[in-house]
Amino acid sequence: MTSQVCARCQRPTNEPVVVTVEHGGSVGGGTAYACPGCAPRFPEPRDPLAEIEALCRARGLGPDAPTAG
Ligand SMILES: [Zn+2]
Repeated sequence: MTSQVCARCQRPTNEPVVVTVEHGGSVGGGTAYACPGCAPRFPEPRDPLAEIEALCRARGLGPDAPTAG
């Protein structure tokens, strides 16, 4: 069992969850580990649904799109 230190609470956890952090520092990587309790507090690395929604809004296809005609 590999234990990792949570990037948020700095406590070792036996169930590390890979999270993405936006640290351009010397940590090198952008991948960190969080304990199951802290993982939900991290932003998700990728959210396909959100990206699709953003694209739709950008093209005026969203629910708030003005009706032509
Ligand atoms: Zn934690």
